Amino acid sequence: MIIITDNRCTAYHREGHPERPARIARTVARLEQAASDLDLRWEGPAPVREETLLRAHSADHLERLAVPLDFDADTPSHPDIRAHAGRSAGAALRSLDFGLAGETAFSLIRPPGHHATRDQAMGFCYLSNAAIMALEARARGLERVAVFDFDVHHGNGTEAILLGEPGCAFFSVHQYPAYPGTGRESFQNAFNQPVLPGAARALYRAALEKAFDALTKFRPSLVIVSAGFDAFAGDPLSDAPLEPEDFAWLGRTLGSLDAPLCSVLEGGYSTELPELILSYLTGLRAR
Ligand SMILES: [Zn+2]
Repeated sequence: MIIITDNRCTAYHREGHPERPARIARTVARLEQAASDLDLRWEGPAPVREETLLRAHSADHLERLAVPLDFDADTPSHPDIRAHAGRSAGAALRSLDFGLAGETAFSLIRPPGHHATRDQAMGFCYLSNAAIMALEARARGLERVAVFDFDVHHGNGTEAILLGEPGCAFFSVHQYPAYPGTGRESFQNAFNQPVLPGAARALYRAALEKAFDALTKFRPSLVIVSAGFDAFAGDPLSDAPLEPEDFAWLGRTLGSLDAPLCSVLEGGYSTELPELILSYLTGLRAR
């Protein structure tokens, strides 16, 4: 199993912001302890060409990332955020490369991506990593590219960029109502499975199973997983019920698909994040 990371991703932070460097630093430390059990290899991001980003984002958006003005209250500007977001997209693309080569790869880096739209940074996200991967995979000739998003928040950016895109489909299970306020229903190539705040664990699992069935029916030639760990019962940013073993189940279930698979980290803000990621990777390892 391959973990893609870059320690420069811990070099920026806004005081009090939940999307903080320790998310990655603590997970790297935890995975180093588990490295031999999981047979881990460490890799860095791939370089990213501007034209690869421009499939998913406008030129104006890429320019705006270099302007030192906050995007919104959740999404500060940081010195070099354009470079940080670029490395995160590069790590996502590296995980795509490994996934297509038949390896199991996880991009463990920040910032996350699934809320960033073509023209807007929002929700802690600056570049839409999963959409960039999906469009790159299509450009390489893959016919049926799926994004499966189990972050507790709806991946509005991924959905908006891939909506109506031939050969692409988006599957999301998320809390609703919740940030960012989208994902109430399915339309076109977007399969949305909303779950009410405070829902029982069995209900949330049933929603995940439904989304997994829809994913299977799509017969994907590639699965990109937007792996967010904030549907965990102890997460401060949601009111969802999942336990560590549910993330292991997600790993096993997604890993059982007969298609190349690559995962990128989205959210997850509890102190248990390293254990939740470890559970997911342990599940995937059964692949
Ligand atoms: Zn989230």
